[in-house]
Amino acid sequence: MADTDRPEVRLVAHCRRCHGWLVSAASVAQGIGPTCAERERADRRAAAATLTLFDVDAA
Ligand SMILES: [Zn+2]
Repeated sequence: MADTDRPEVRLVAHCRRCHGWLVSAASVAQGIGPTCAERERADRRAAAATLTLFDVDAA
């Protein structure tokens, strides 16, 4: 097989937000756990709202 170079396939990673272990394939793929993904989404929404306010102020 072509996979002989690789000693092992790692299916774990650290969450980019809380640096906890990610064990689900979906979380590893996203680089963030489900709880942190939710929080990050809320943060982005807050940031977007702030940017919008600034835009309105500037205009
Ligand atoms: Zn996390």
